[in-house]
Amino acid sequence: MKFLADGMLGKLTRWLRMIGYDVKYFRDLKDEDLIDISIREDRILLTRDADLFRRALSKGASAFLVEGHGEVEKLATVAKRFNLNLEINVKNSRCPKCNARIRPVSKDKVREKVPPGTLKFYDEFWECPKCGQIYWRGSHWKKINRTLLEANRVMRNLK
Ligand SMILES: [Zn+2]
Repeated sequence: MKFLADGMLGKLTRWLRMIGYDVKYFRDLKDEDLIDISIREDRILLTRDADLFRRALSKGASAFLVEGHGEVEKLATVAKRFNLNLEINVKNSRCPKCNARIRPVSKDKVREKVPPGTLKFYDEFWECPKCGQIYWRGSHWKKINRTLLEANRVMRNLK
């Protein structure tokens, strides 16, 4: 299952990538181009725009109108509809910035790329093969997991 998100769904895109889904995102692409990519690459078009949603469906694309307010609710709505697992498994995680699958990298290799304090406290690192970004389970990790727990809770309460 692959997705394509419209320009209004940048944050949702990052969340979906983190939990392991392949999401293409373009900040400003014409509606027609989004529909074309969706069909050509067999991607589900996620959009906030009811008009684009209807046009995509009428042209035979798969599309989903993302309703809800705030990131948690949007994430919960998409997860409910597509039965997504709202959990981070680093084996599947993709780089929130560029969608490439991140891979483990040794501490030695990141020595020059992360702050010294980080090296002292963490032993596991991941690297994005495309943009070079390094990831570790830092202080933001707890916040990410809290948000995902909250999204799970909201999802269970959706009709
Ligand atoms: Zn990247």
